[in-house]
Amino acid sequence: MADYDFDVLVIGSGPGGYVAAIRAAQLGLKTGCVESRETLGGTCLNVGCIPSKAMLHASEFYDHAANGMMAKMGIKVTPELDLDTMHGQRKDAVKQLTGGIEFLFKKNKVEWIKGHAAFTAADTVQVGDRSVRAKNIVIATGSSVTPLPGVEIDQKVVVDSTGALELPKVPEQMVVIGGGVIGLELGSVWRRLGAKVTVVEFLDQILPGFDGEVRKESNKILKKQGLEFKLSTKVTGVTVKGDKATLTVEPAAGGAAETIEADTVLVSIGRKPNTDGLALDKAGLGTNQRGQIEIDHDFRTSVPGIWAIGDVVPGPMLAHKAEDEGIAVAENIAGQHGIVNHDVIPSVVYTWPEIAGVGLTEEAAKERGEVKVGKFPMLANSRAKTNHEPDGFVKVIADAKTDRVLGVWCIASVAGTMIAQAAQAMEFGATSEDIAYTCHAHPTHSEAIKEAAMAVTGKPIHV
Ligand SMILES: Cc1cc2nc3c(=O)[nH]c(=O)nc-3n(C[C@H](O)[C@H](O)[C@H](O)COP(=O)(O)OP(=O)(O)OC[C@H]3O[C@@H](n4cnc5c(N)ncnc54)[C@H](O)[C@@H]3O)c2cc1C
Repeated sequence: MADYDFDVLVIGSGPGGYVAAIRAAQLGLKTGCVESRETLGGTCLNVGCIPSKAMLHASEFYDHAANGMMAKMGIKVTPELDLDTMHGQRKDAVKQLTGGIEFLFKKNKVEWIKGHAAFTAADTVQVGDRSVRAKNIVIATGSSVTPLPGVEIDQKVVVDSTGALELPKVPEQMVVIGGGVIGLELGSVWRRLGAKVTVVEFLDQILPGFDGEVRKESNKILKKQGLEFKLSTKVTGVTVKGDKATLTVEPAAGGAAETIEADTVLVSIGRKPNTDGLALDKAGLGTNQRGQIEIDHDFRTSVPGIWAIGDVVPGPMLAHKAEDEGIAVAENIAGQHGIVNHDVIPSVVYTWPEIAGVGLTEEAAKERGEVKVGKFPMLANSRAKTNHEPDGFVKVIADAKTDRVLGVWCIASVAGTMIAQAAQAMEFGATSEDIAYTCHAHPTHSEAIKEAAMAVTGKPIHV
């Protein structure tokens, strides 16, 4: 170790970075983690997964009370929104969880170096007035909001996801630019609390990357809830006057422009890797055309001793993918064999109902060969029906010859929880028959996965 400060220095304390740091320390390596934010936990804990789920969870209760769901179960209530308290419980969740990472750092003897890291050499970074030298450096700097050219985010009228989590009052008319996961989740929060929400999406369907049938059905369900969609439509300009915005939109294929008025515009067209200010060139590193740091199967960059994980490298920008890469990279640095199976990374949209999938879409699976598909509607699942949650379905896609499960997709109130068993089955190389003959507790939503698996070979019981 001689003149190294650390065996492992992690840059960034998001779910990739903090997990890598903790695992490296657990493996006996002297570990530091540089974070420029005031609190640990990265995008996920501070302005991403956690605060958005806090608002989704609370607004779901409000919606159930306001829109007749509770009345259906014999509970008559007229809800009154206390937005300050709702925001308060969001902030509290963030505070507790970011504080929890600080506790785990102390417990595992990970040193938190506060400040912004920039490379000065392949094994050295500068943080404020401190030069830190490490045998291994893990870049886990994450991602930030992709700006829309010509549209200025003022966090008042035109907001990004961080601003949309903190709106001080419910907008009357909100326009969401981008029908991806973040836009649909945050659009749902404010629609539930009373805003009229229009989602403008350039593509001809929401949720790019998801299974085609799931995309279509999700659109139908969300529309029924009151979200308005303008698909195949591009935003060509946003002008703000006072506390109102006017958006100019036109058909993606060209055609007559129209305007939409809004008091809040959410720009959610995607996220870009964070490498600005890292001085990668000083370490002999660069980025690919998408701004990402390229890595090999073991998370090594092209420079020995520098590794990269999470949103800053290619692959889905998801917290659990970053976490698994964090564990694997630390194990690889320690000389173990850390592996992440990138074919089995679940994706979840936390709308109501939730939308989840793992593995291949039906379209992608069909491109690879012959498949068999089994479907089961949530309407026929006893628990979903009893709970007044009839929307959605489960779809199991299996290889026609081997029956091996290639993909599973669910729309269900608890799809995010249900998809875990599909991921585990796929990780173990399960066939649809394996899932179909696994005993599932009754009455649970998960029985729909069993029945969809039974439907692959044509024998579900309840339809
Ligand atoms: C609104 C929203 C909701 C989301 N919901 C979900 C969800 O439900 N589920 C899910 O899986 N994913 C979700 N995501 C995505 C998820 O947050 C990211 O995939 C995840 O945080 C990526 O982790 P990471 O460790 O790669 O980077 P990040 O979490 O982005 O953390 C990187 C950290 O590095 C720090 N940093 C950057 N550069 C430097 C530097 N040079 N020096 C020091 N520090 C630096 C940053 O300050 C940041 O704290 C959501 C994202 C958003 C915005």
